[in-house]
Amino acid sequence: MHDVIIIGAGPAGLSAAFWCDELGLDTLVLEQADRIGGQLHRVHNPIGNYLGLKTRNGEELLEIFSRDVDAADFDLWTGAVIDSIDLRARRVSLRSGESLQTISIIIATGVHPRSLGIPGEQEFAGKGMIESGTRDRDLFAGQDVCVIGGGDAAVENALVLAEVCPTVTVVHRGKKLRARREFAERVQPGHNVTVFTESVVTRIMGDTSVEAVEIQRKGGMKPFQLAVRGVLIRIGVEPNTELFREQLAVNENGYVAVNSEQETNVPMVFAIGDVSNPIAPTISGATGAGATAAKVIAARLNRHG
Ligand SMILES: Cc1cc2nc3c(=O)[nH]c(=O)nc-3n(C[C@H](O)[C@H](O)[C@H](O)COP(=O)(O)OP(=O)(O)OC[C@H]3O[C@@H](n4cnc5c(N)ncnc54)[C@H](O)[C@@H]3O)c2cc1C
Repeated sequence: MHDVIIIGAGPAGLSAAFWCDELGLDTLVLEQADRIGGQLHRVHNPIGNYLGLKTRNGEELLEIFSRDVDAADFDLWTGAVIDSIDLRARRVSLRSGESLQTISIIIATGVHPRSLGIPGEQEFAGKGMIESGTRDRDLFAGQDVCVIGGGDAAVENALVLAEVCPTVTVVHRGKKLRARREFAERVQPGHNVTVFTESVVTRIMGDTSVEAVEIQRKGGMKPFQLAVRGVLIRIGVEPNTELFREQLAVNENGYVAVNSEQETNVPMVFAIGDVSNPIAPTISGATGAGATAAKVIAARLNRHG
């Protein structure tokens, strides 16, 4: 019987585990991937907004986190795929056959990028699909590219790519870009970034790698093809809640509902970090929520480190 099982080893889960360990709780972290860090692996830009630390990217911040993780005394299983979970009984069964029992659960499963579900999207992964403007800009230098989405991430990536690509076409289904003004204002006529609003990409095409996208503009016009060698999709994220969504209260977008103690509507089941729909989905928010959940659990179990 564990005191706490934490599901997910991104910044939120790692912080919770660190705090649980400090408070003397018997803690097990289950991470389905074969490495810890969550979205930190996708942060290729410098991180300058985590108080007290500036790093070149997410990997470097993870290295710093890992020093504390390695020195701590909690159990951490990577490659731990959960087969089923009963939140009320607080029982977890792993695909590898283990059955685990715990007094409390902390859900720290984060989010994943939303996909379009259009032909070509999966097929051209690694063959013209751009994962990050910052990381991949040199690979696509001199090529025409398309960015799908209209929020901060889409426009910021478009601007990074525009530094090295002859043309960048942003395709956004809304009436105007949603990106903050500082980004949207930099997309000006005459600039090499063209924006198609009220438009969707319906197909990504090519032979062995991306050669074109098919764009459908609102108003019934016929779809047309645009020749590009790279496509970057930034249309938001979705919470990783499929495993337990039916067992607790979630909002209309599937994010777990929590109170100010990070507790869900199921007693002794907590949710922290991006999966709990924070107003600011950030590393500092995730690590702070981890501390809150650990402190609440320790107090309930009468442990104070
Ligand atoms: C490109 C990019 C740039 C960013 N830049 C910044 C920045 O500059 N500053 C900042 O503060 N934030 C930034 N963020 C946001 C920040 O990375 C997230 O807010 C933070 O990683 C959230 O941490 P988390 O632990 O809640 O979730 P995640 O980091 O998503 O981690 C969740 C973990 O749970 C695991 N998991 C999921 N489902 C299961 C399951 N069923 N069983 C077991 N494990 C599971 C996942 O594999 C993952 O390891 C950025 C994000 C991106 C993508």
